[in-house]
Amino acid sequence: MEQIQFRLLTAREIECRIAQIKEKGVQLLLYKDARTDMALLDETVGPMNWQRHHSRDNANCIISIWDSEKGCWVDKEDVGTESNTEAAKGLASDSFKRAGTNWGIGRELYTAPFIWIQPPNCKIETNRNGKLVCYDSFEVSEIGYNDHREISRLVIVNAKTNAVVFQRGTAPTPTKAEQSKAEPKAEPKASTTAPATEIQKKLIVEKASNEHYMEIMQRYGASLENLTKDEADEVIGEIEDRNAANPAPVVCERCQSYITGVVLPDGSTMTGGEIVGKSKLTYGGVYCWKCMKELKRASNKRKAG
Ligand SMILES: [Zn+2]
Repeated sequence: MEQIQFRLLTAREIECRIAQIKEKGVQLLLYKDARTDMALLDETVGPMNWQRHHSRDNANCIISIWDSEKGCWVDKEDVGTESNTEAAKGLASDSFKRAGTNWGIGRELYTAPFIWIQPPNCKIETNRNGKLVCYDSFEVSEIGYNDHREISRLVIVNAKTNAVVFQRGTAPTPTKAEQSKAEPKAEPKASTTAPATEIQKKLIVEKASNEHYMEIMQRYGASLENLTKDEADEVIGEIEDRNAANPAPVVCERCQSYITGVVLPDGSTMTGGEIVGKSKLTYGGVYCWKCMKELKRASNKRKAG
């Protein structure tokens, strides 16, 4: 079929979700709604020329688009994730949106910058359970793209206060009034406090996950050299929090792959942690499920022979 090119999403078609809350700010992610995928499919290939199928209790979705030249359907499939707070219906729309992304719908959202909003641009509270919460909602008010379909301009407002809380890139033709209103606020301020110590920097480099380290770099201007001692303390606290929530993946001593959970033939599951525990007990080492099975087979063979 001819190359199908879905148009880039408009500001109204993009939504903001709070991905994480810290005392000092919230991280936002940009995402699309399943209705946007439907609208763009209708608009681009025509309502009669696409269809969706779900399988595995909505965990998988195939979007098929009719290829009139070949006279057949062309499929793209993806899997949703249950990790979000939405229920079973969420899984269907999630797998649908992912299949849509495979066709190119909203793929540009992956080029979004790291979005970090700090008070007073957002209100962070502690709820009764001592958990940090932010009840603000955020909207994309402007979006622009370069020739490579990458986000080059992004303005986000706090829907509660209507204030511009984040902006990247320059507006096409900003008026003076707009310009003064859109003064960047979230840039790290020049601080008079002492710079981060070498020990702090070493801790950050060694302990942060790759993904987290990239976020830190983006937040502090691509270098740990800009970090003050106080900021470094804050970053180290953040790393500890995160590492406690997501323990670093454990690597199998035998095949060097990450040890992940498995679903057993009887349908029960074993988590990565349980596998590590069992392998230590049984084999005195840290092995993945596959290697444990191979070790067992080898030892059975020895016994038999
Ligand atoms: Zn292994």
